[in-house]
Amino acid sequence: MDLMEYQAKQLFAKHDVPVTLGIVATTPDEARAAAEELGGRVVVKAQVKAGGRGKAGGVKLADGPSEAAERAADILGMEIKGLTVHRVLVDPTADIADEFYFSFVVDRARRGYLCIASVEGGVEIEEVARTNPDAVAQVPIDPVTGVDEAVAREIVARTGFPDDIADRAVDMVLKLWKVFIEEDASLVEINPLAKLGNGTLEALDGKVTLDDNAGFRHPEHDEYDDVEAAEPLERLAREKDINYVKLDGQVGIIGNGAGLVMSTLDVVAYAGEEHGVKPANFLDIGGGASAEVMANGLEIVLGDPGVYSVFVNVFGGITSCDAVADGIVTAFRLLEERGEPVTKPLVVRLDGNNADEGRRILDEAGLGGVERVDTMDGAAARAAELAAAGVQKG
Ligand code: GDP
Ligand code: MN
Repeated sequence: MDLMEYQAKQLFAKHDVPVTLGIVATTPDEARAAAEELGGRVVVKAQVKAGGRGKAGGVKLADGPSEAAERAADILGMEIKGLTVHRVLVDPTADIADEFYFSFVVDRARRGYLCIASVEGGVEIEEVARTNPDAVAQVPIDPVTGVDEAVAREIVARTGFPDDIADRAVDMVLKLWKVFIEEDASLVEINPLAKLGNGTLEALDGKVTLDDNAGFRHPEHDEYDDVEAAEPLERLAREKDINYVKLDGQVGIIGNGAGLVMSTLDVVAYAGEEHGVKPANFLDIGGGASAEVMANGLEIVLGDPGVYSVFVNVFGGITSCDAVADGIVTAFRLLEERGEPVTKPLVVRLDGNNADEGRRILDEAGLGGVERVDTMDGAAARAAELAAAGVQKG
């Protein structure tokens, strides 16, 4: 889960990282009230999960409440990198003397963590890395021993933080390491990490990615879950505990096991080239899928108006094919009872444990619109063909 700047700052504050929290506003009037409450000059900042807001005109200074309302009116509704701005953060302005860059990330290639830091902050770090790579320090962090004071000092020295703020920088590095580890983040990034006129350091921006796999350890992270912005079908899937990612294609995909579903996407993408169709989603019903899970999966996939056919690709393992076939039959009944009968064609491929029995159950049920194809390539081709025919009919 990616956090917005204001959420990242709330998380920083919990760990005593110096930040100003400001006030979030969703209308110009709220921005005016926020500026009144804060007093003096403010900065109005677009809250979207994208970088480069400053460059795009999504960060504006305002001299007082009425100007804050005007700037908010400019920024709200704006699009930044394809994302519409629905809220702004109204923050007291900072007296910036210098801007640095700092981040901790998971480094999968090295199977560890990596600290990336630079005294050339405030601009895109990728740009600095291109034009002046020596200005970007990369310090691998041993995941077992982590960052103690000695490592923090090494980071600060290698980055080249000026002497007058070295101690404060060490303190900042240790606090951000705590945020990174204790919150189970896979990214903590601050750009700019600013030196203020009074010589202190402050996080003026924040980008945090929390590791959803560690969500069970952090019920408190639920508050950051931005459900209103999520794709409605993805939200429904999340409520039903189904791994679903919406894509833009026409062939709905249901499979068991992430690996099988991924390869199903590839096979359908390939088969679909000929017909001008693509996979419409990723949906993994998991290993021990019950009839209800199958029904929920079908409901979600069929809920996508862009879907014209569905490919159910199941390899029977612990859950054998007969159980899956029973699941499909029951799912059809459940959906009928829910008033959402299946009307789009389904291509089912069953293989693996007890495949014969599963195929027999499916054939005997004689479900309308369901075709059985026993090879993955064949089933993908048929599903693509049916989707293309559906698209043509409109
Ligand atoms: P980003 O462009 O999405 O990374 O947004 P940032 O939060 O980093 O803001 C962009 C730039 O706006 C920063 O690099 C700062 O130079 C400037 N900025 C942000 N907050 C303030 C502030 O409080 N006062 C001043 N003067 N400038 C700010
Ligand atoms: Mn920034």
